[in-house]
Amino acid sequence: MWQRVKDKIPYIILAALLLAAGFVWSRVLGQDFSDKVRIDFLDVGQGSAILVLAPNNNQVLIDGGPSDAVLAKLGEALPFGDRQIELLILTHPDSDHLSGLVEVLKRYEVNQILETGIVADSAEYQTWNDLIKQKNIPVIFAQAGQTIKIADNLAIKILYPLAKINGQEFKNTNATSIVGKIIYGQNTVLFTGDAEKQTEQPLLMLGADLKADILVVGHHGSKNSTSLEFLAAVMPSIAVIQVGAKNTYGHPTQEVLSRLKEIDIFRTDLDSDIDFACDLAKCWQAE
Ligand SMILES: [Zn+2]
Repeated sequence: MWQRVKDKIPYIILAALLLAAGFVWSRVLGQDFSDKVRIDFLDVGQGSAILVLAPNNNQVLIDGGPSDAVLAKLGEALPFGDRQIELLILTHPDSDHLSGLVEVLKRYEVNQILETGIVADSAEYQTWNDLIKQKNIPVIFAQAGQTIKIADNLAIKILYPLAKINGQEFKNTNATSIVGKIIYGQNTVLFTGDAEKQTEQPLLMLGADLKADILVVGHHGSKNSTSLEFLAAVMPSIAVIQVGAKNTYGHPTQEVLSRLKEIDIFRTDLDSDIDFACDLAKCWQAE
């Protein structure tokens, strides 16, 4: 009996080595072909730009900041040779959100656009609309209740505007901002564009599902956004403020910073790019 086991020892060792090698390889490959989603809050100065990178190589860019600064950031973040962005979201057509997206539209192949489609009269917005027409890019007009699937377990859910507002004109474009939630597994990120109290209030009254782990603080930390009631409904553990260093607006305001005092705050003016990696259960700060 002993003799027979002894004969088999080399095979047992070989099997163990193969198992170990398989384990190591699955770990190595797991890093390259993982199920991790990256959510990068790009430092684009005084403005907003959020890049979502899905494991299936689908990318979503939510706003583009005030300049072509976003292009260098995309160059760093996208896989080498990837000139295609699956979805652009324009929360509202103010230049600190729109300008960078116009540059992206000129240089990247864009599969789809989600926007409100409101009427605004800047030359830049005209260029944006012309490029969309010229490139024949499908546009979805945002409306609460829409869910856009990006990849397995990854979607963006729209909470505002409550109904489509395309073709309409507004005095206060901030109040037209798309509010939405990035959902990946159990992780949630709420973005609000430059929405202020007058958008937060109806969402609260309607009992919208605002709860999120990460809150992208509204309107770069303006005192008219991020009310205490709103924060109580979102209950974020992390707040991200996209804001330019030494901006002339005084963003983020002391009022908002003190409302956020119990929450971990990340700021693009102080921290530059803020990148998170998420698996299905949690997000953590990536390198
Ligand atoms: Zn803004």
